[in-house]
Amino acid sequence: MTPKRILICNRGEIAIRVAKSILELGHTPIGLYTEYELNAFHLEFCTEHLKLDGHTNRDTYLNSDQILKLCQLHKIDAVHPGYGFLSENASFAKKLIENNIIFIGPNPHAIDAMGDKAKSKQLATKAQVPVVPGSTAEVPSVEEAIKIAKQITYPILLKAVAGGGGKGMRVCNSESEVKANFETVQREALSSFNYPGLIVEKYITNPHHIEVQILADKNGSVFHLFERECSIQRRHQKIIEESPSPFIGDDMTLRNSICQAAVKLAKAVQYDSAGTVEFIMGEDKKFYFLEMNTRIQVEHPITEEITGIDLVSNMIKVALNEPLDFSHQDQIKIRGHAIEARICAEDPVSMLPAPGTIHDFSYTITTGLRFDHCIYRGYEVRPDFDPMIGKMIAYGITRTTALRKLCLALDQLIIGGMLTNIDLLKFILQEKDFKNGHYTTHYLTQHVEKIKLLAFSTFDEKNISSLKSVASIISSITNELEQK
Ligand code: ADP
Ligand code: ADP
Ligand code: MG
Repeated sequence: MTPKRILICNRGEIAIRVAKSILELGHTPIGLYTEYELNAFHLEFCTEHLKLDGHTNRDTYLNSDQILKLCQLHKIDAVHPGYGFLSENASFAKKLIENNIIFIGPNPHAIDAMGDKAKSKQLATKAQVPVVPGSTAEVPSVEEAIKIAKQITYPILLKAVAGGGGKGMRVCNSESEVKANFETVQREALSSFNYPGLIVEKYITNPHHIEVQILADKNGSVFHLFERECSIQRRHQKIIEESPSPFIGDDMTLRNSICQAAVKLAKAVQYDSAGTVEFIMGEDKKFYFLEMNTRIQVEHPITEEITGIDLVSNMIKVALNEPLDFSHQDQIKIRGHAIEARICAEDPVSMLPAPGTIHDFSYTITTGLRFDHCIYRGYEVRPDFDPMIGKMIAYGITRTTALRKLCLALDQLIIGGMLTNIDLLKFILQEKDFKNGHYTTHYLTQHVEKIKLLAFSTFDEKNISSLKSVASIISSITNELEQK
């Protein structure tokens, strides 16, 4: 194999994660940086560093023309896009391919077909994969939205077809709420995603977000690497994920049926890389397709831990037309349990990003722990980048072991000089219902009182800052609850 020059079109923890696989496979990782990132941690893992000109994300990490020029100038063989930024941009992938540069991701047709929540629902329906009741095409007017809502009954969700990252959706409980929200969601969709199109979906109450990891090659073989439960969310964004799902438990028939549905959809779209099929599962264990993410996902490490398969390496191998690490579904097995907690620079009161500079940083890693992060002393979390700065991942033969390891790791993680969600993560991981595996996407709003009790029972008088943050977490959750 001739070593390839692989450009990582990303930054932060995912750029480091991708660089590690590139190095392990004997290729050359090449990193990007902007004028604000001269000391970025991800550059330490890259053999060469290329500077992006410009002051905004639009001019730098989202600027496909500039990136293509750099590729040509520096004889880049392949590009890994990470997540976010240009990772789900079909025209970027197409441009690279037209210029004989390998895109380490699925073919542009698959990105395009799955990039739109209406189009992908149509495809899923055709492939006989159950979809959430509601519209499978864009809803042109508020009248049409109300008509569909009447058929599927309230509550419903107005959702941006181009949405992502939990943005551009609003729950409506009545006709008047649809009227009040329709244009607002359209406007939000236009400003965040450059496209105002909406769909109407039945809002499933007390659901689980359960997704299936897919790995497919260019010869039509599609494999699944089991499920991840990602129901601990705030603002429709995940903060704690685990695999296998405690809700599916040892119901192997259900597990097989959701995994096979994901494989069926991936086959229907001729998928040829790592990807994730997301489902929403009701209390009755019926599941419905939500969307497909045609990229490596934030929470991929928990799947790597329980299967022992390196997803990023396999993504690279497929793109370079090399065989995967396995050739039969039977070779992929669940071994133990893994849990991930996302560490975010956020204000515990508003749960909104809280940029700042990290002055103090230390952590301990023991057997079964993995810390994917981009943190160093002096690191500035800028408002224009994602506030997620790291992921603590624990693996254990049992869920209890993994949970204990994760709690201990978070106890020993010190990030000083800025606000983070570490206390909130610790409360959840120690709370009874979470410990018992009994939770849905409504967990945070349903557990305000319990979190309050837990917070005060563990209050340490010497640690005033911890008390402050506990108090503000409670008030922010209460506010959220009151708004519902
Ligand atoms: P995951 O499903 O992997 O947890 P998220 O939905 O949290 O992924 O998104 C992963 C990253 O991609 C986040 O940084 C998020 O802000 C970003 N992202 C996802 N979808 C979009 C989108 N449509 N537009 C802009 N950013 C997005
Ligand atoms: P995004 O592209 O922003 O990730 P998703 O469609 O994947 O959007 O939804 C994100 C989250 O929003 C889900 O994990 C779930 O918590 C909630 N959600 C989305 N659709 C529904 C639905 N129809 N019913 C209930 N909750 C939903
Ligand atoms: Mg999603």
